[in-house]
Amino acid sequence: MIFRNPAGAPELACDECGCRWFDRMTGACYECGATVTAEMRAEFSRELDAFAARRAQVSGVADKRPP
Ligand SMILES: [Zn+2]
Repeated sequence: MIFRNPAGAPELACDECGCRWFDRMTGACYECGATVTAEMRAEFSRELDAFAARRAQVSGVADKRPP
């Protein structure tokens, strides 16, 4: 599952136990050992991209493309 922290950034959490501690090397939960599916990783990656895009807009650091 994917949480959002108070800053609005996505955080990947275990589908099984809900904890947010993942071994990024193996993609497995530290608590229960459940693995993160490729689909979930892809979704998380999209969430991260969207969050980065929003932050870039807010801070004005984004490349200046017409809307
Ligand atoms: Zn877990």
